[in-house]
Amino acid sequence: MDIDKLVRPNIRNLKPYSSAREIHSGMNGIFLDANENALEPVYGVGLNRYPDPLQHHVKTKLSQLKQVPAEQIFLGNGSDEPIDLLIRAFCEPGRDEILIPSPTYGMYQVCADINNVGVKQVDLSESFALQVDAMLEAISDHTKLIFLCSPNNPTGNLLEKAGIRKIAGRFKGLVVIDEAYVDFAEEPGWLPEREQYENMVILQTFSKAWGMAASRVGMAFAGSAIIGILNRIKYPYNVNGLSQEAVLNALDYSEKKTYLVNRILEEKKWLYDELSRLKSVETIFHSDANFLLVRFKDARQIYREMLKKHILLRDRSNHPLTRNCLRITVGSPEENKILINYLKERDI
Ligand SMILES: *Cc1c(COP(=O)(O)O)cnc(C)c1O
Repeated sequence: MDIDKLVRPNIRNLKPYSSAREIHSGMNGIFLDANENALEPVYGVGLNRYPDPLQHHVKTKLSQLKQVPAEQIFLGNGSDEPIDLLIRAFCEPGRDEILIPSPTYGMYQVCADINNVGVKQVDLSESFALQVDAMLEAISDHTKLIFLCSPNNPTGNLLEKAGIRKIAGRFKGLVVIDEAYVDFAEEPGWLPEREQYENMVILQTFSKAWGMAASRVGMAFAGSAIIGILNRIKYPYNVNGLSQEAVLNALDYSEKKTYLVNRILEEKKWLYDELSRLKSVETIFHSDANFLLVRFKDARQIYREMLKKHILLRDRSNHPLTRNCLRITVGSPEENKILINYLKERDI
């Protein structure tokens, strides 16, 4: 696949902003090139210097953990940044479109809308499976990107690999697999298979299992041609120094992430069991993520009642496939108990 043919011509021909620091990524020296305050920061340590624009140290460590070469990794201000950059790099405003299943993560539509890029949606099945043939039929000459979220937000399920293989094999644009919740799933994700598909981009994040949401660091894994394009159009210092340091340190404790994931999965089981005893609950859908999608007899009513108790749930009842459904994040043991107690109190 010729990525250069797929990318918007203005992006292909772009001469990116280049900082001397970029060529020097990860190296030491006397830096008189960027008009920083060379003395010291008013607050903190090392904050007087611009951060490494290509996040060399983080990528080196991440490369070992993920078994992916550093030049096939992009780091962004959350994984929301690569979502936006992919749309801006590959979709011509007012002409091109993205294809997404529905319901799914809202940011694909928002980023497309901001960029005046069309959005074609194909409903998932009643059991939230990808409708592969309908997706393939919905592809037009102007479809440049397909976003597939697996495990899917808000439905919680992994999308079937066979269907994604079929789509990735046939589609002439990019297939972006958003694996924000993959650490909570029992199956391995798409990283081991990615190299078989030149058109595949995998998104992961430090915001969920790693517990680093405030640091705003997301990852994209793809062939070096695609990664090169993202690097050309990002803000030069898109991942700030504090965040780079935070995730660099977090990467030394990946076994703690595993430990936290296991604890969250135990809590999920507890929450599932408790919810399943409630009369107001109709269905709890299978979840491969750190949240449960729950169909209630009257979701809006419960949503409002819990809000009065200062418990925020996500109301997903507006979509026909998730009618009367609330998405409930697995909280801490204390938070989950409080929620269940309130739900029991009003469960008539
Ligand atoms: C939470 C989430 C993200 C993460 O976004 P960040 O910008 O990395 O915090 C990405 N995709 C999906 C589907 C999510 O639910």
